[in-house]
Amino acid sequence: MGINQFRRNPVTGQWSVIIQNEYDINDLFSNEQTRKSKKTGDSEHCQFCGGFETETPSEIFSIRPNNTRKDDSGWSVRVIPDKKPFLQIYGDLNNRGIGMYDVLDGIGAHELVIETTEHNLQLYHFPLKQIEHVLAAYRERILDLKKDARFRYVLLHKNYGEGHKEVLFHSHTHIIATPITPTRVKTELMNSMEHYQYKERCLFCDIINQELSVNERVIQENEKFLALAPFASRSPFEVWIFPKAHETFFESNREHTQLATILKDILQKITTTLNHPNFVMVLHSGPNIANGRLRGYWKTLEKDYHWHIEITPRLRGFTSFDVGSGFHVNIVSPESATRILREGKTISAKQEN
Ligand SMILES: [Zn+2]
Ligand SMILES: [Zn+2]
Ligand SMILES: [Zn+2]
Repeated sequence: MGINQFRRNPVTGQWSVIIQNEYDINDLFSNEQTRKSKKTGDSEHCQFCGGFETETPSEIFSIRPNNTRKDDSGWSVRVIPDKKPFLQIYGDLNNRGIGMYDVLDGIGAHELVIETTEHNLQLYHFPLKQIEHVLAAYRERILDLKKDARFRYVLLHKNYGEGHKEVLFHSHTHIIATPITPTRVKTELMNSMEHYQYKERCLFCDIINQELSVNERVIQENEKFLALAPFASRSPFEVWIFPKAHETFFESNREHTQLATILKDILQKITTTLNHPNFVMVLHSGPNIANGRLRGYWKTLEKDYHWHIEITPRLRGFTSFDVGSGFHVNIVSPESATRILREGKTISAKQEN
């Protein structure tokens, strides 16, 4: 039993986290049936529910009334370390080569934002104030984790319906701080930098302006935010949410009421229209500049990168073409997705083939 490792694939440039502990291999074979029954299952043994605070690790951060104490009940949002983190918080990166390969120790932080005390509520059910509390918790944790110079990136993601453990259906978000910028984000950073070098404009601001003027893929907007179906959507009903004003870091944003509003509306639309699909939501904010600046990276970062949220409903598995080529095959055009989500009518699931 050793520390997990980040290993770099020299052919693709991608990093994998290789788990060193024995894992319950049965977890890999949960069938659709167990998954479905758990999705609507009872909440008897959920440690994330209000009243079971002693069953979780001690909280790192919470939003709670002043007259309640740490790890007591009565909270609104609670952040705890993951019980089985795949990255460990203590230790050095121990950056090294094994023969021709690059390896780092699996150092990082893995935290969970428990978004509500109620088991059966999803983010889009919450009152706006509660969503704002969740956003405030995101902000606090990002600011705190970025003080640690070992962490180059803090990724937030949440998924609904993927996996089969009871707690997975209690609304929560994963926060993972890593010593390496995730490949997806790195690609975005590189493309944004390149666009800026040619045009001296932010790539995302250009996308926002174009989409607003064409208005074929804008699903919803308010004064401060815009939700759209990206031009080259990877999968059906992919939605990106951007702040309209240029902003590199989510944690600089203070327009949480407007963000909560558009987030709630979009998640509600996806849920209603697509009949409660599984989905993944990620927050892409700028990387930890304390670290990047030291190494002279991304001098234009604050001008060229623009934070956003990506929501991807998980409607169908990838085809072997996707896996083999990296091309995504999307059977619903973003233009149709926009029309359907704007209308918000439930699609009936009769077209089995
Ligand atoms: Zn629960
Ligand atoms: Zn921008
Ligand atoms: Zn992104």
